[in-house]
Amino acid sequence: MSDFISQIYEDYEDLFFIQGRNGGKVPFSNCVLIADHLIDTGISPIYLKKLKRKFTINKVLFSHWHDDHIRDNKILGDIPFYCHPKCKPIIEDIDKLLDLYAIRGTRVEEKFKVFLSDVINVYNIKIKGTFNHGNILKIGEHHLEVINIPGHSIGHCAFYIPTLKFAFIGDIDLSKFGPWYGGLDSDIDDFINSIDKIINLDLQTIVTGHRGLFKGASLIKEELIKYKTIFQKREDKILSHLKENTPINSADLLEKNIIYKDYTFFKPFLLAMENTMIEKHLKRMRVEDKISQYKEGYILC
Ligand SMILES: [Zn+2]
Repeated sequence: MSDFISQIYEDYEDLFFIQGRNGGKVPFSNCVLIADHLIDTGISPIYLKKLKRKFTINKVLFSHWHDDHIRDNKILGDIPFYCHPKCKPIIEDIDKLLDLYAIRGTRVEEKFKVFLSDVINVYNIKIKGTFNHGNILKIGEHHLEVINIPGHSIGHCAFYIPTLKFAFIGDIDLSKFGPWYGGLDSDIDDFINSIDKIINLDLQTIVTGHRGLFKGASLIKEELIKYKTIFQKREDKILSHLKENTPINSADLLEKNIIYKDYTFFKPFLLAMENTMIEKHLKRMRVEDKISQYKEGYILC
């Protein structure tokens, strides 16, 4: 077996963790193969081709619309694709990514288009069908339950096999970076509720989009709780920069490591995402009356 493909359970020869290139780190992602169903395509073109040669894949399910999860999809272009209804119009028209990432008309736009087409090979593809929260997909002998976990993006879904206490939880990815909510369709409160949804599942084994496989109920719970605390840490960092009289806005808070630790990879894009994420925190704190709006920014109450 290739070293990026590993059987998850000794007793089940049709359930595999497929680790993306470079450990599944962005711009790659991890996948799961359940019998003839592949969840996500972000492992890399070489790995996808190897996988296709080794296994019969009859359906591809997308956990969500993000480019690092649907990349290189043309390699599997002869196989039908499925996703949540809210992801369908986006995956079928990837030009929408420019609006969702808030980069249309900015100096990042052209570079990002080239990145999509020439680096990660994301093109429009037709979605054959959709699945919704609560649907049970019968795959081989497994019953896979669809769990909608919005917040990271709209239409973001986890896939749960209760009998095995197993789930693929997509981009509740438990990465050291923490939760990502840089899309205009992202939402902090939804994200927190979705993490709680996963915490409340009976789980022994999970696969995440970027950090791989975890085994053990207590470890999984511990990692999910730790991951959730990062929202508060970021909020505290933002509050430490706010003042009582001088308004501060999201642009003033860029490059202060509130969200990203390192800005070397595609810096203008990261700054656009950082801006969106800080803005979401500021608006949320405003609604919670932790801060006030003043002139073009926010001040401490
Ligand atoms: Zn994602």
